[in-house]
Amino acid sequence: MKPVNIDTLKQNFFGTIIMPNDDAYEQARKSYVGSGSPAIVVRPNTAGDVVVAIQFAQSNSLVISIRSGGHSVAGFCTNNGGIIIDLSVINSVELIDKQNNIVRIGTGATWKKVAGTLQEFGLALSSGDSTSVGVGGLALGGGIGWMVRKYGLTIDSLKAAETVTADGKILRTTATEYPDLFWAIRGGGGNFGVVTHFEFAAKPVGKVFSGMIIYAMENLSALLKGWRDAMRASSEDLTVMFLVMPSFFGNPPSAIAWCCYAGDDETAAMKAIGPLLKIGTVVQNMVVKKNYADVLEEPHPPEGVKAIVTNGFVEQLSDELIDAIASTHGKEVGPVLQLRYVKGAMNRIDSGSTAFAHRGSETMLVSASFVPLEATKTEIDQAMIPWKTISPFTKGAYVNFFSSANKEDVAAAYPQETYNRLAAVKKIYDPKNIFNQNYNIPPAD
Ligand SMILES: Cc1cc2nc3c(=O)[nH]c(=O)nc-3n(C[C@H](O)[C@H](O)[C@H](O)COP(=O)(O)OP(=O)(O)OC[C@H]3O[C@@H](n4cnc5c(N)ncnc54)[C@H](O)[C@@H]3O)c2cc1C
Repeated sequence: MKPVNIDTLKQNFFGTIIMPNDDAYEQARKSYVGSGSPAIVVRPNTAGDVVVAIQFAQSNSLVISIRSGGHSVAGFCTNNGGIIIDLSVINSVELIDKQNNIVRIGTGATWKKVAGTLQEFGLALSSGDSTSVGVGGLALGGGIGWMVRKYGLTIDSLKAAETVTADGKILRTTATEYPDLFWAIRGGGGNFGVVTHFEFAAKPVGKVFSGMIIYAMENLSALLKGWRDAMRASSEDLTVMFLVMPSFFGNPPSAIAWCCYAGDDETAAMKAIGPLLKIGTVVQNMVVKKNYADVLEEPHPPEGVKAIVTNGFVEQLSDELIDAIASTHGKEVGPVLQLRYVKGAMNRIDSGSTAFAHRGSETMLVSASFVPLEATKTEIDQAMIPWKTISPFTKGAYVNFFSSANKEDVAAAYPQETYNRLAAVKKIYDPKNIFNQNYNIPPAD
């Protein structure tokens, strides 16, 4: 690895600099899915530090990885021989406008910190399902969480963002200030600059009803159809992720409806959740009243394997698709399949108003196949056979749930019109494509 001279950086950068021979390097180079060998890791304290880091990276021709929570499913937040701009120190969570519930959040915060802090104000944001996922990466992709049906995507609550662009400008972007950039960062990922802060309109949320309902794996097709019908009839306060699991950690294959009812009225919650207790044989019902912050869980990925993750949206969860799922999933061996029922608030926003374009969807399917770390292409292809049977039913995909990052993935995430518009915005804000460690949109010609 070519050493970099950090003398100039030290003069203007007031955050932390971590080099390969520092003790902190071993931890700093790791991501949720793997490790890299960056030439340097910097932890800016401010947007001004980010400007200096970007200028330093460009003058030393360093590949730039941006990191907020480090949970990129494709491992983009680390690299070999480049720089990691690690935003974990920029992690404040403040209520800046009590009347309108506007919260200002540093992108390096974790969603655990956000949920825990907002709870003190009786507020919450729909984020994701996991505590340690970062604000930056999740929100820039869209954000599909436990209250998606009631409040939409995470970006649907976004009011403003502070972004450092490739030319070192710190821009406040809103619906009226740099609206093209504001449109692009709501779904376009880390293509357009380093976002340091977001301002969201949080929602009043207190206790919720949440937990898993575990079913006997008797008739998966009937179970899934019952779940779909119950979801179609239910209040949008209820968001459910249905998990179809193979044999895992020594347990037999299982089917789980993981619920979050975003309200504290027990009668209303039971009315919404009750039908899910009648769709199959319930082995365990763990739904209880709890703080929204306690709904988020720390992920525990199985060790010694890697996850091949892919996904797709469906506009109608048809009987035909459910039969295809039931014939290929929930076996002794095979992928974990998540079905996230998303129909609700996000459908009522025009598809062209954010770079996240798949607003017509009813359900998102996420497949995770676990293969050996050194799996061959043949082994990976084999593991993907169940997905290949159901992917023809999908239309479009969520950019944040891919372990690969090829042209097909980018095309699935961004329909042609969205892609063209993103490429035009890219040309304005990052014409040299220095932010390319992502689901990359090269600048338009
Ligand atoms: C265990 C697990 C659970 C998940 N659950 C959900 C879920 O429920 N809902 C959901 O929507 N998604 C979920 N995801 C997907 C998640 O949204 C993405 O992996 C996301 O990229 C992680 O964000 P991060 O900040 O932790 O990641 P990072 O690895 O830090 O960032 C990922 C990429 O985003 C870009 N980026 C990050 N921060 C910035 C920034 N501040 N400025 C510019 N670009 C930036 C960069 O390109 C970076 O490489 C989950 C992922 C995992 C691993």
